[in-house]
Amino acid sequence: MSIRKNYLQIRREIPDYVKIVLAAKMRTKEEIEEVISAGAEIIGENYVYEAEKLYISLGEDAKKLEWHMIGSLQKNKINKALKVFDCIQTIDSTELAEAVDKRAERMDKVTSVFIEVNIGSEITKCGVKPDYEMIKRIAIEISKLRYLKLKGLMTMGPRVGDPEDARPYFRKTKEIFDKLKDTGISNVDLKYLSMGMSNSYKIAIEEGANMVRLGTVIFGKRSCDLNN
Ligand SMILES: *Cc1c(COP(=O)(O)O)cnc(C)c1O
Repeated sequence: MSIRKNYLQIRREIPDYVKIVLAAKMRTKEEIEEVISAGAEIIGENYVYEAEKLYISLGEDAKKLEWHMIGSLQKNKINKALKVFDCIQTIDSTELAEAVDKRAERMDKVTSVFIEVNIGSEITKCGVKPDYEMIKRIAIEISKLRYLKLKGLMTMGPRVGDPEDARPYFRKTKEIFDKLKDTGISNVDLKYLSMGMSNSYKIAIEEGANMVRLGTVIFGKRSCDLNN
C-alpha cells in the first residue's frame, strides 16, 4: 500500500471530527509530500531541528499546514520552535509554559499549547502526573499567560504490548479532560484530546480522543525499527 492509500483509508475509517497528526520523525521530504497531497493537514515533529529542516524543504506547502511539537521541548530550543510550530502539545510544567509565553510575546505570536499528561506515571516519560489538581493548577497558570492558548491535553499512554491494555489509561485521561473542561477556566478553550498512535488509535478514539498521532500505519515501519 502507498502512503496516500494508507492515509485515505484511515481518514475514511475514523470519524470526521478526529484530527490526524502525521508523526513525521525519520521520514523523508518525499514521504511527507505524498501524505500532504493526500490531504494531510497537521504535521507532528519530535525535534525542533528536524522540524525546521522539513519546514524549509517543503517551501510554500509548509505554510498551508499546522505544525505541532509532539516531542519534549528543551528551554534552549523555544525560540527556534516558535518559528515553526503553531502548537506545542508537550507542556508539562508552569515553568515551561512561562518560558514559552515570554518568547512568544517577543515574537508577537500567540501559540496554542496542550498539557501533556503522563497517564501511566512512568518515570522515563515526560508529562504531568495524572493528578487532576496539579493539572488544573497548571491550566489556570497557563490561562493567565497572554501569548498562550490552552487548547487540549495530550498523552502517550503506556507503552504496552497489547493496545487493549492502554484503554483504562485513555479512559482516565478523558475523565481528566472532561472534568477540566467543565471547570470552565476563563481564557481556556479545551477542544482537543490528543491520544492514540498507530497501534492504539482505534481504542483511543473509542475512549474519546479527537486527535490521533500516526506514523507507522501511514508511512510503514521506520527504517531504524527494521534493524531491531
Ligand atoms: C512517533 C510518535 C507517534 C507515532 O508513532 P507510531 O507508532 O509510528 O504511529 C505519536 N506520538 C509521538 C509523541 C511520537 O513520538
